[in-house]
Amino acid sequence: MHIQFLGANGTVTGAKYLVRAGRSQVLVDCGLFDGYKQHRLRNWEGLPVAPAELDAVILTQADLDHSGYLPVLVRNGFRGKVFCSEATYELCKILLPDKGLQLEEEASHANRRGFSKHSPALALYCEADARNALRLFAPVAFATPFQPGGAFTARLAPGGHILGASIVQLTAQGKTITFSGDLGRPNDPLMAPPARMEHTDYLVVESTYGNRRHDPTDPAVLLGRTIGDTAARGGVTLIAAATLGRAQSLIYQMHLLKQSGQIPALLPVYLDSPLARDASALFQTHGAEHRLDAGQCAALRQGVTIVNSMHESIALGAQRAPMVLIAGSAMASGGRVLHHLAAFASDPRNTILFAGCQAGGTRGAALLAGRSIKIHGEHVPLRAQVVQVHNLSGHADADEILGWLAQFRHPPRQTFITHGEPDAADELRQRIARQLNWNCRVPSYADSMELA
Ligand SMILES: [Zn+2]
Repeated sequence: MHIQFLGANGTVTGAKYLVRAGRSQVLVDCGLFDGYKQHRLRNWEGLPVAPAELDAVILTQADLDHSGYLPVLVRNGFRGKVFCSEATYELCKILLPDKGLQLEEEASHANRRGFSKHSPALALYCEADARNALRLFAPVAFATPFQPGGAFTARLAPGGHILGASIVQLTAQGKTITFSGDLGRPNDPLMAPPARMEHTDYLVVESTYGNRRHDPTDPAVLLGRTIGDTAARGGVTLIAAATLGRAQSLIYQMHLLKQSGQIPALLPVYLDSPLARDASALFQTHGAEHRLDAGQCAALRQGVTIVNSMHESIALGAQRAPMVLIAGSAMASGGRVLHHLAAFASDPRNTILFAGCQAGGTRGAALLAGRSIKIHGEHVPLRAQVVQVHNLSGHADADEILGWLAQFRHPPRQTFITHGEPDAADELRQRIARQLNWNCRVPSYADSMELA
């Protein structure tokens, strides 16, 4: 068996791992790069393997950093199956066409306004490419072995990060490699913990928070204080979050905060995505992956106003009364959060809240560093407060990753640390080597390795 690392090296974006055994080739994850330009340019470069020669793709989850390159792969000739969990498929059905449409709209907007350096500006892919990709999906149940091609057998286990998130185990030629995917937390208020894994020969583990310990105080306390203080001074709390996944966790926390009186019960909460309605419904049909009962699932739909049309979304920008507004994307790299940032970033009464890690080079990272940003070619001054609440993230922190690793009965022959900024990946490497005495390394982009 042989692995090549084609993304999520030195960054949390662009996850792609090419695994070969004999003549079979499987791509685990097919994510979009984001952040620094040298990373984003890789979205436009070809892969070192012809897409038509891949037997299959296996997705660890639906987030675009793991699935968002699929439409390009399919347009460039991939015809195999895309295996993933059922909830991942349901979320991809919503996310991928939406991303295609967004890319088309951004390109045509740039062309109308003439601010792109490319003329004409091209969309990486369009909605039709995304719909073509969806035809190849073959959802599978957790724990049920499947054959992704040739010599390989695979199986998924719940990863606990968002609905559908999966740990992937691939076996060929008597060797097993396990991919943690984005690893959830053992005590997340919403999601069930990641599955316990006991045996693997090789391991690829994420390191988003490989150099951090989440604040042990309840994230709801900081969330409640931030929203409450902002509302008290007449401001708007704008939360940049994935509207399918983490947003549901935030809405649930806000429901509890209103119930306990920590934020005003009548404070309007808007979830700015017409797609979010379907995501909330998915919690009802995938009960085993989270901790909520039917009543708590219903709370995900109550007390929040779903914003459907772009017209309604833009109209919110003119509103000056206190409210909470959740809009994608999580790193402010695209989507509806952009026009809200343009509307709200310059008022010091407002707060911009990030509920997770911001990859280097994204607008989210720039805002956290206190820098003003450009949106649709225009400079937006930053006077709002910018807050990051790490422990609202659905990623395990360093201690929690170590706790999950410690469940393996034998050390893997080799552990590869990916999906983290360089400092986070290297610090996790040092901790795994020191505490578990495992053989581990941080691969670079395009590194390839024989798994002998
Ligand atoms: Zn990820």
